[in-house]
Amino acid sequence: MSETLQAVRGMNDVLPGESAAWQQLERVARETFAEYGYRELRLPLLERTELFKRSIGEFTDIVEKEMYTFEDRGGESVTLRPEATAGIVRACITNGLLHNQRQKVWCAGPMFRYERPQKGRYRQFHQIDVEALGFPGPDVDAELILMSARLWRRLGIGGLALNVNSLGTPESRREYRAKLVEYLRSREGALDEDSRRRLDGNPLRILDSKNPAMRDVVSGAPLITDHLDPESAAHFAELRRQLDAAGVPYVVNPRLVRGLDYYSRTVFEWITTDLGSQDAVCSGGRYDGLVAQLGGEAVPAIGWALGEERVVELMKLQQRVVDAGAPDIYLALAGPGAEAMGLGLAESLREAVPGLRIETNCGGGSFKSQLKRADRSGARLALILGDDEVARGVATLKPLREETGQRQVALDALPAELATLAGTTDRHRI
Ligand code: ATP
Ligand code: MG
Repeated sequence: MSETLQAVRGMNDVLPGESAAWQQLERVARETFAEYGYRELRLPLLERTELFKRSIGEFTDIVEKEMYTFEDRGGESVTLRPEATAGIVRACITNGLLHNQRQKVWCAGPMFRYERPQKGRYRQFHQIDVEALGFPGPDVDAELILMSARLWRRLGIGGLALNVNSLGTPESRREYRAKLVEYLRSREGALDEDSRRRLDGNPLRILDSKNPAMRDVVSGAPLITDHLDPESAAHFAELRRQLDAAGVPYVVNPRLVRGLDYYSRTVFEWITTDLGSQDAVCSGGRYDGLVAQLGGEAVPAIGWALGEERVVELMKLQQRVVDAGAPDIYLALAGPGAEAMGLGLAESLREAVPGLRIETNCGGGSFKSQLKRADRSGARLALILGDDEVARGVATLKPLREETGQRQVALDALPAELATLAGTTDRHRI
């Protein structure tokens, strides 16, 4: 026997029993975004490597060691997207969408990062990403956060904490960065290897270190919120006022920085305590310089991305109701006459009763084994058609989830009989 082929490490299959939760998340997200006037954008998974180098920054984990980069057959260096913002900005520029216009858009799909796979951290993972381009904020910053808060409510997810911070402007950050580096250099002996490496390239990222041994050094570091320029401080104060007014609780976390270079002013993160160390469910921030950096006009922008794997895990943990995809009816066909008309009967019932879910028995099998399949399908009722029933123009309805007995119904009375059933099956299991 030949060896079984395995999936690529860190890349998961979403199986039929799991896809309902994903669909639920994506449907609720789509509906919520539409209610705020955000429209979908669908983009290539592959972009020129240069795009990510220029946007995310050379000294980030992503660009330094996580990208899936290769030469295509024409010798061009291309990269599987590690995040969505760069591609969205590229698409807005190349399609002229920011020319005297503003955009509120969203996009969803797989991202690729060569990370160490563990629970909640994969090499192919999925994000839902929202961006508002052309808006200086802070009103839109608040709107984006309110939209994420509504999404958690709709999904029935609880226990998330919102952390917010401001990174100021590139100029004010440069001053802060100098003070931070001065402080960190004075304690260089206490820094781990990762942090020493970041000291030159991306010292702010040290504040975000996941190594508990770094906590003491980090907690004594100067705070970025004490070094904001006046406009950024006012922007941040107004954002907090808007969140207060909307009744969205938050924590100001001056050590919240983002992994990517391009952020300015507002940054935020939704954190959970339910998922162990992979605790960030959704992260976002403002990137006022990025569009110009990628060759577009100077346009302010802000966005966030949620990790679908982590949100789906929360939905499961918190036992959120989802559409389990069970049929309402399992159609069992006993005998050649019944088999001959089975598909036709199911089609006519679908015509007559929109939304009714019918699984037709395919591939024959004994009556007993068909009833077993009916039971396993999760259907509420079995609709049984045997040859003698075909001859008499009737079918048998057999409840599968209650003790009530079965009964015969005339075929032409079936649509009326089943109309009340559509959508009433227990679809609320994961
Ligand atoms: P982390 O600090 O967990 O590495 P990050 O700062 O790299 O996160 P972003 O690039 O901001 O994360 O991505 C937004 C969201 O995408 C994260 O909050 C998280 O939910 C999810 N995410 C990021 N990387 C992964 C991954 N490798 N596997 C699964 N989900 C991920
Ligand atoms: Mg990361």
